[in-house]
Amino acid sequence: MKRDMKLQRSFANVKEDMAHLYSYIDTMRNRVVELEDTNMRLISAMTVLGEIVAAGQKRQLDCQKHTVKKVSYKPKVRVVASKTGKKAHLNSCAFAKNMKAINKREFSSKTSARKAGYKLCKCMK
Ligand SMILES: [Zn+2]
Repeated sequence: MKRDMKLQRSFANVKEDMAHLYSYIDTMRNRVVELEDTNMRLISAMTVLGEIVAAGQKRQLDCQKHTVKKVSYKPKVRVVASKTGKKAHLNSCAFAKNMKAINKREFSSKTSARKAGYKLCKCMK
């Protein structure tokens, strides 16, 4: 009889352990479901991020296509002299403005006007 009691208690212990294990398995199952859910959310977030990155790269490529062309800079003529006159003037000088286009000679600097034999007008001094 004493032995039966012992045996019964052992069974009861095993039963209790099994119950604990089953509840543990349930907890783990729920955790797995949670993780799968998190995983799905992360995947969709990464998809969105991937699209954003791809759009950014496309925009960058478009920008590279539209790089500004190098504009050749033509210096503005600043010094002018008349073929019939002896003095060189700045473009802004009244004498330069009254000069006939047909007689006008253009120089890129005072020096080149002087080298061509012109004297410098007061407007350049
Ligand atoms: Zn002048």
